[in-house]
Amino acid sequence: IDVSAEPGSRTVPGACFSRVGSLHPLLRPRIVALSQPSFSLLGLSAQEVLDDPLAPEYLSGSRLLAGSEPAAHCYCGHQFGLFAGQLGDGAVMYLGEVESDTQGHWEIQVKGAGVTPYSRDGDGRKVLRSSVREFLCSEAMFALGIPTTRAASLVTSDLHIGRDPLNNGERILERCSVVMRLAPSFISAGRHDNRAQLLDYVIESFYPHIQQAHNNRRERNLSFFREVMMRTAKLVAQWQCVGFCHGVLNTDNMSILGLTLDYGPFGFMDRFDPDFVCNASDKRRRYSYQAQPSVCRWNLARLAEALGSELRAADAGAVLDDFMPTYEAFYLCGMRKKLGLVRKEEAEDREVVSDLLRVMHNTGADFTNTFRLLSRSVRNIGHLQVGFYLFYLSLEPCHNSFKELFFFCCWYTRRRLAREFDGTSDLHLVKKERLRVMKSSNPRVVLRNYIAQNAIQAADKGDFSEVRPKLENPKSPKW
Ligand code: AMP
Ligand code: MG
Ligand code: MG
Repeated sequence: IDVSAEPGSRTVPGACFSRVGSLHPLLRPRIVALSQPSFSLLGLSAQEVLDDPLAPEYLSGSRLLAGSEPAAHCYCGHQFGLFAGQLGDGAVMYLGEVESDTQGHWEIQVKGAGVTPYSRDGDGRKVLRSSVREFLCSEAMFALGIPTTRAASLVTSDLHIGRDPLNNGERILERCSVVMRLAPSFISAGRHDNRAQLLDYVIESFYPHIQQAHNNRRERNLSFFREVMMRTAKLVAQWQCVGFCHGVLNTDNMSILGLTLDYGPFGFMDRFDPDFVCNASDKRRRYSYQAQPSVCRWNLARLAEALGSELRAADAGAVLDDFMPTYEAFYLCGMRKKLGLVRKEEAEDREVVSDLLRVMHNTGADFTNTFRLLSRSVRNIGHLQVGFYLFYLSLEPCHNSFKELFFFCCWYTRRRLAREFDGTSDLHLVKKERLRVMKSSNPRVVLRNYIAQNAIQAADKGDFSEVRPKLENPKSPKW
């Protein structure tokens, strides 16, 4: 712990975090939205929180609860492929940790609460725009069953700060806002000082089964690295299966627990495009949708390097060699569910997936809607026309290559799906199971950009209703 930290750009060798000396309260903070499911992780009800008149201050890091010791994580990382040296949380403040009997261990952070010892030239603030996006997407990802850090609250204020949202040199004043976020740990898979100590802490605290299973340190570390690899492979496969693009997969934005971490310029694809890039500043398209799996593997290789003598290079290499096959297996498993292939895996399944995606790309089909409509088309195999018609509607009206998609569906349905029912004694049961699997694997709604944008615009005018009701029932959000 570095206790003497002051704001500014300086390196703090040997520290895992630095204390944040003073608070930077917001002006007239007010609650935009709370997530009841997140508060229940802390053993609180949203109503209890709302009943406290000081809640907006506590939730925004403007005032501290007794026992809270604010700090900022210190870490290093590779940004856009280059080692950036020491970074650290410049806009995030750690408030403390909560241990619950039933809900586990939660680290509490506020994002946008002002400068920390790692803010460098930054102001440590976040605006309403980015905060609404992080708040909504954290909870939306959770609702989709994708591992993620959580968001408990969103507070905005009358404190304004100049930003250049369009990156065209025009600064506008935006409202300073703060998201309170939760995770078992926010430790990243970037590079840290105190390697051995931090590694022990992470394994003992968050991978206790691995700690218990090994007496030999090198073997323990290897099995830890393998599990981080597996979790990361599974995570990125889940992203690919819902068309999610993270946008800034720098190593310091990779969670050591395999969570989706740091919601910035993320985007859910509308029309399917493997080259989709959601980060306007990513000019070299390093973090495109289709690059995400290989980027994650690259990031894991940097983690292996950072573990240095804690991990044998040959061992790390063997784990890294397993990344792509592991990812492919998770991905295929997810895509088979999306297509309703619930029975035996067939050699041609990979091809079915890539053929469909190619046709979707050529026809400009919407990623989310195509899969959702496909789930409908098999609801009743006797009424395929309905499904095809809906499919057609998912395409741009003037797009004449819809025929290709239509023919793919005919082919897919007759050939591959027919075999799903081969030799089954209870056709009804298989069909029911297929429908259940497809519906739960093909979300009807994802947090599309325009949805977040509408919520932001309304919230900016003081109408928070677009942010709130979306979370009342995350399983079927009203957006
Ligand atoms: P990100 O891409 O959001 O992970 O941010 C990259 C780095 O910039 C991290 O070390 C952040 O803590 C830091 N950072 C982001 N926003 C701010 C800000 N408003 N003030 C100071 N530092 C920031
Ligand atoms: Mg980050
Ligand atoms: Mg960020």
